[in-house]
Amino acid sequence: MKRFRSRVLTAAWLRIAALAALPFMAVSSVVAGAAAAEGRELRIICFGAHPDDCELQAAGVAAMWAAKGHKVKFVSVTNGDIGHWRDAGGPLALRRKAEVEAAAKILGITTEVLDVHDGELLPTLENRHALTRLIREWKADIVMGPRPNDYHPDHRYTGVLVQDAAYMVTVPFFCPEVPPLKDNPVFLYYPDSFQKPNPFQPDIAVSIDAVMEKKLDALGVIVSQFAEGGANGSADLLPADPEKQKQRHQQVRDGFARRNQSIADRFRAKLGDWYGKDRASKVKYAEAFEICEYGRRPDKAELSKLFPFFGE
Ligand SMILES: [Zn+2]
Repeated sequence: MKRFRSRVLTAAWLRIAALAALPFMAVSSVVAGAAAAEGRELRIICFGAHPDDCELQAAGVAAMWAAKGHKVKFVSVTNGDIGHWRDAGGPLALRRKAEVEAAAKILGITTEVLDVHDGELLPTLENRHALTRLIREWKADIVMGPRPNDYHPDHRYTGVLVQDAAYMVTVPFFCPEVPPLKDNPVFLYYPDSFQKPNPFQPDIAVSIDAVMEKKLDALGVIVSQFAEGGANGSADLLPADPEKQKQRHQQVRDGFARRNQSIADRFRAKLGDWYGKDRASKVKYAEAFEICEYGRRPDKAELSKLFPFFGE
């Protein structure tokens, strides 16, 4: 489902778990950084609840990684089959899959949509297995997902499922048919605006100015959700008149530009940590992420290798 309203939240559990997680994190603390230094490609897998969530949150950094030859995969955990005011079921699921495939082509990444009904995702053992397998099969260095306090149940349970996989990806006899990851990936959260029990606190903020047009192009092909308004839209939003359609597409594009501008403004101080105050003040569009306490905890040096964008 589309998510313009920002809600926040989070992080209490994040902090609490830091100490508990240390033993197994220490095992591989420099692996991804070393991999980047060795010139090995980075492998990133991003989870969203619906076919549009990853694109909204991470299309900018995805395009930047892809341009450098790194491998990015977006996974929608549900098929989005109730995410429209007029259409539903199989035909809508197929349409939404085609939309994110078109977006992935623009971004230069891979995409997959799991066949779970929209609005019905649960944190089951079966789904824990599914996400664990996907992370292992992708051999991920970085895993992204929503925080688990989101207003939408599918977003919430996607967050829980990603958390549930964060340790299990390393455990050999959990899903033994897929080899475990020797090195625990870095798990990151997307931003939101929920305040309870605690707000999103960015650890990294990235300028996406260089790829903003590409991100807007990618979001622009997700017509069912944005131009047509998704579950809460109406026929009025995208009328038959070609001129009005053009205006509507531009309105959607402008709205997303403002959305990523507001992320840059909101996390300007964090941009300053990474770019220096002067350069940060000039960043127009940004994406930001918070480190989950359950995966490996990278230091700043490793993060700058995982996000090899700051020297540009
Ligand atoms: Zn959604």
